[in-house]
Amino acid sequence: MRRPLIAGNWKLNLGPGAAAALAVFLRDALAGRDDADVVVFPTALSIPAVAAVLDGSGLGVGVQEIAAVASGAMTGANSAVMAREAGCTWMLAGHSERRQYFAETDAGVGAKAKAGLAAGLYPIVCIGETLEERRAGRVDEVTQRQLAAALAPLSPAELALVTIAYEPVWAIGTGETATPEQAQEVHAALRGWLHAHYPAIADTVRVLYGGSVKPSNAASLLGQPDIDGALVGGASLMVGDFVGIIDGAR
Ligand code: PEP
Repeated sequence: MRRPLIAGNWKLNLGPGAAAALAVFLRDALAGRDDADVVVFPTALSIPAVAAVLDGSGLGVGVQEIAAVASGAMTGANSAVMAREAGCTWMLAGHSERRQYFAETDAGVGAKAKAGLAAGLYPIVCIGETLEERRAGRVDEVTQRQLAAALAPLSPAELALVTIAYEPVWAIGTGETATPEQAQEVHAALRGWLHAHYPAIADTVRVLYGGSVKPSNAASLLGQPDIDGALVGGASLMVGDFVGIIDGAR
């Protein structure tokens, strides 16, 4: 049985004050609950403030983006080692917005996941097809290519610490959600691919769904056999909606 994981990607929203305030609401709303792993991803500048609020709460904090190197001449980048020091235990790698706006490559995603693991972060590796690719019948080809590249540099011990997030690009921030059946079909194909290539982790690795998840569709998505949680963007900025999605994982 895979324990549900619900992750909130706050993207480029909420400076330190507003992010800490949201973290307080979330911490208080979830106090005493233990039905899912919950982690939030504030913008990097807000990580210390959120980590201070969530310290000891059981809720995790992650960094949205790290460089593949720990330090050096990389103006503007975030370091996994420094994110760990600031209170993070999780990281995202390969979010479609990073691929689209920052030219992140399949191989780069693997290098970042490796760097994060070396620093003690659990990576959530994001993969997903565009609408064009879906219409061309290339969903499995694209998602499995992205996944293969991201996992290739990792040792067996590192592989066991990875979470995958299937996020169809056409469903991110658009209000357009994959139906539970559409999502399950891709998740089942990914699980099959894992069985073929990484049998040691195929039954234990969590595969999250992301793309306009909200309280009204969370239970039906999370009720699918191969969907082990959600990566939530917009709805994670509202405590009531985010808690409603966590309720859907029960
Ligand atoms: C995301 O950013 O990973 C995401 C899924 O966003 P949204 O929930 O807003 O579609």
